[in-house]
Amino acid sequence: MTVKYASVIIDISHESVDRIFQYRIPEDLQEEVKIGSQVCVPFGSGNRRRKGYVVEITEKAAFDEARIKEVAGLVKGSVTADSRLLKLAWWMKERYGSTMHQALKTALPVKRRVKARNQQVVKSMIGDLWSWKEAEKKPDIFLNEQQQQVVDAFCRDYDKGERTPYLIHGITGSGKTEVYMTMIDHVLSSGCQVIVLIPEIALTFQTVMRFYARFGERICVMHSRLSDGERYDQFDRARRGEAQIMIGARSALFTPFERLGLIVMDEEHEGAYRSEGAPRYHAREVAEHLARMEGAHFVMGSATPSVEAYSKAEAGLYRLFSLKLRAGKGSALASTEIVDMRGELREGNKSIFSRRLQELIKDRLEKKEQVMLFINRRGYSSFVSCRSCGKAIKCPHCDVSLTLHNNRRLTCHYCGYTIPLPGTCPFCGSEYLAGFGVGTQKIEEMAKQMFAGARVLRMDLDTTSRKGGHEAILAAFAKGEADILIGTQMIVKGHDFPGVTLVGGLAADVSLYAPDYRCAERTFQLLVQAAGRAGRGMRPGTAVIQTYIPEHYGIQAAAAQDYQAFYRQEMGYRRLMHYPPVNHMLGLQVSGRDEELTSHMIDLIRDSVVRHFGACLEVIGPVPAPVYKVNDIYRKILYMKQENYDILIRIRKYIQDRWDETEDCKKLAVQYDFG
Ligand code: ADP
Ligand code: ZN
Ligand code: ZN
Repeated sequence: MTVKYASVIIDISHESVDRIFQYRIPEDLQEEVKIGSQVCVPFGSGNRRRKGYVVEITEKAAFDEARIKEVAGLVKGSVTADSRLLKLAWWMKERYGSTMHQALKTALPVKRRVKARNQQVVKSMIGDLWSWKEAEKKPDIFLNEQQQQVVDAFCRDYDKGERTPYLIHGITGSGKTEVYMTMIDHVLSSGCQVIVLIPEIALTFQTVMRFYARFGERICVMHSRLSDGERYDQFDRARRGEAQIMIGARSALFTPFERLGLIVMDEEHEGAYRSEGAPRYHAREVAEHLARMEGAHFVMGSATPSVEAYSKAEAGLYRLFSLKLRAGKGSALASTEIVDMRGELREGNKSIFSRRLQELIKDRLEKKEQVMLFINRRGYSSFVSCRSCGKAIKCPHCDVSLTLHNNRRLTCHYCGYTIPLPGTCPFCGSEYLAGFGVGTQKIEEMAKQMFAGARVLRMDLDTTSRKGGHEAILAAFAKGEADILIGTQMIVKGHDFPGVTLVGGLAADVSLYAPDYRCAERTFQLLVQAAGRAGRGMRPGTAVIQTYIPEHYGIQAAAAQDYQAFYRQEMGYRRLMHYPPVNHMLGLQVSGRDEELTSHMIDLIRDSVVRHFGACLEVIGPVPAPVYKVNDIYRKILYMKQENYDILIRIRKYIQDRWDETEDCKKLAVQYDFG
């Protein structure tokens, strides 16, 4: 029998989860000891017995064989929530390619206790700014027929143990949240617990408030602005069974519930579910895996499901439900108009507001109704370029244009480099430097000029950076303290403002130029969600999409609010290009200060991968990353496409093994991205 070694963590909830110790597994325990098992091991100089968790099993000794101690025993009946999270961490490491340490840091809450009561956490987040009392006594809602059908199916499946995940495709305002809450009631009454994922908690505080109003102290909340201690406290309440519902962003997945019965994922399509750090996981995939592991149900919902999820529903892997009507009394979908901005310019209107939008804004102001105006942030912050030589002022460390702030300073959004706005062009000395593109500040100024007397609020990174910034602005707008709310796409995500009857997308299409195969999908989602903000009360709403490419299918389908039409055309494009979800894709990024070495290494990887897997693999690149240089670090990417995800996982391991053995690679960094 081969000798096997177990890597053991002694105290998993300690800050230093990186202290992993290796033990030999005695032969008679080899069958039983698995990842996540709790074992007894001799520890320290006195060889005192300590309990620990197995996080990895290998056949390689990490150091001198003679000095490795032996596992003393297996703790029976020790399948705790923590051991399941350990297993999940291990799965994430394998799947996404990170170190076990990174995976553990992601999946296991850190112990650093401070006193923080739940109510304070929930309330401080929402602030007692707005309608707190109101939220507590919302009248009972009776589900309508379309909602009831989903809930009935769920209860039947749940009780039978049928666990095919659900995808609820429900138009904005169709009552998905009410559906989730009724499902949750059912699961709680069976004695199980629930995780509710929302994309970004600061932007969805209304949802949290509704949950709090319905479930009170049974919920706990996880969000990015909690301190480590507060996070730990929230997890601890879940572990001890004091709370049964965890609501939060993707890290809420790692809540140590004893009996998880349901994971709900609201706004399934949102980009925030994709983690940027290692392991670069997608919360949908992890949630699906976790639900399977735990025998829990998994329910996703969105007005604009991701192409990935929808194609799985079409393939029968998810059960699809549609909610086609708005649930609120008298509420109907907004009518949507496209304005061709090329025509505006031709006819002499150089303003960023089309004539149609101006007319509608004036109309709403007269009627004392509210307006939301958004720009698509991606690529649309204002940069400065020279009208004489045409060069843009870039960051010397990163390959991006500097952004103009307050008309005074230029700042790099990647590294923070900042300089005062120069008086003359640094390249040719000309005085004709001009800002291009329009930021939210500029729009605010122009709106105030054009619509004199209108009360204007702005929400962007500048105005929301202090704690509670989002909530304060949204609350003020909800209370009717402003007529026009201006912002980036963050203002059109998920909020429910009954007073808003007009939504304008000023440069709705710029995200179509993003260097990413998902850009049409993102643009479509954004525009449909934006239109979904108008007319949520009793008065009908209008959405105006200003664009330079009105004929694009993403824009057309968004204006028609026709998901199916979008999906069909988008899938055609993905099929043609072999992009996900038709094929799976692995993006490999190599980065380093040494430009030549970076290029050389990624070329070597490409050749090696092609030699070993070439026959079954489509390889693109290496190409420079969309932003090639950041902070003086050069980045190159290699894309690999394959129908079979498992082959990509094998390729990733193959690359990593060789990477670890190569001396030169120590000067570089590697990152994997499954798409
Ligand atoms: P979604 O999550 O699909 O956007 P919500 O659950 O937020 O939809 O519902 C939109 C609005 O309709 C909310 O104000 C909600 O209170 C209301 N609503 C939902 N279901 C019903 C119902 N069955 N009867 C009356 N109003 C409802
Ligand atoms: Zn110049
Ligand atoms: Zn920079």
